[in-house]
Amino acid sequence: MKKIAVLTSGGDSPGMNAAVRAVTRTACHFGYEVIGVEKGFNGLISADFRRLGKTDVSGIIQRGGTILRSARSEEFRTPEGRVKAAKNLKSEKVGALVVIGGDGSFRGATILAEEHGIEVVGIPGTIDNDLIGSDETIGYDTALNTAMDAIDNIRDTADAHERLFLVEVMGRHSGFIALETGIATGAELIILPEALKKTEEIKSSLRNTMQGKKRSTLVVIAEGEETGGAVRISSELEEDFGKYEMKVCILGHIQRGGSPTARDRVLSSRLGYEAVKAIYSGKTKVMVGIVNNEVKITPIENTFGKIKQINFDLLEMYKILR
Ligand code: ATP
Repeated sequence: MKKIAVLTSGGDSPGMNAAVRAVTRTACHFGYEVIGVEKGFNGLISADFRRLGKTDVSGIIQRGGTILRSARSEEFRTPEGRVKAAKNLKSEKVGALVVIGGDGSFRGATILAEEHGIEVVGIPGTIDNDLIGSDETIGYDTALNTAMDAIDNIRDTADAHERLFLVEVMGRHSGFIALETGIATGAELIILPEALKKTEEIKSSLRNTMQGKKRSTLVVIAEGEETGGAVRISSELEEDFGKYEMKVCILGHIQRGGSPTARDRVLSSRLGYEAVKAIYSGKTKVMVGIVNNEVKITPIENTFGKIKQINFDLLEMYKILR
């Protein structure tokens, strides 16, 4: 096998560039030719390929986003789309495809492997941290820090006016970002899909904290159907808490952008390097991850579909510290 292709797919996450750089440079080291695929699975379907050498990935380790660009590809969800993708990979004589993305991307990669025998290796790249097989995913740490900085700023203004602030963070169906930013910012209440509270419980927690000596009250809420998000919760609180100045802030896509933290750059570098080493040693249809600071190789089909649990010990701790 002489050629490796690499793509970034789904929602972008800070550190994807560092992973592309690591894949490219490690592959060059082992004597592979590297093909960068533009715009995720869409680029596989349209053969939007470009050759990547060591210097093509210079100066990107610190950049957010992805130089290969990303996409959510509807056509790849169809068998016809995947036939085109596999045909292009085969005619380019690509021996293995590295997919940097989240659970959806790995579902797609798994189907491509099953239907067309393409050798795939996944690198977990999503701010949601919801993939099994790695303690952390690329971009999660940066997203946490971005959300924390934003919430710190909100706390300043909330304190000045003795306000009740409801801040919504990302995470799709997972509460990882909400839990850790809530702890890091000293939130009075954290609302997660994994530990849903009834409206009455939310109200009584808020009453307790607002009767204390605190100047402001900050509630961190995970986005999504499970919690209903900050807007829904604010409407449920309106009747009882309308007399307070209640503000809603949805942090949104700022959490995806920005320069990756040191931790994300190192994680991305490590995972990119390990992905190519896996290919070199003949391990494909796997995802590379880091668990307890050790490299872990997991069959790619086992990385999604199940819920990755948050650390419930942290939840207990925050209840005492808040
Ligand atoms: P994130 O969760 O961080 O946004 P993701 O990889 O989960 O990342 P998705 O939009 O869910 O993002 O998936 C990315 C792409 O993977 C989809 O646009 C689609 O092309 C492909 N994909 C997802 N699920 C499937 C599936 N069941 N079959 C084929 N392709 C799929």
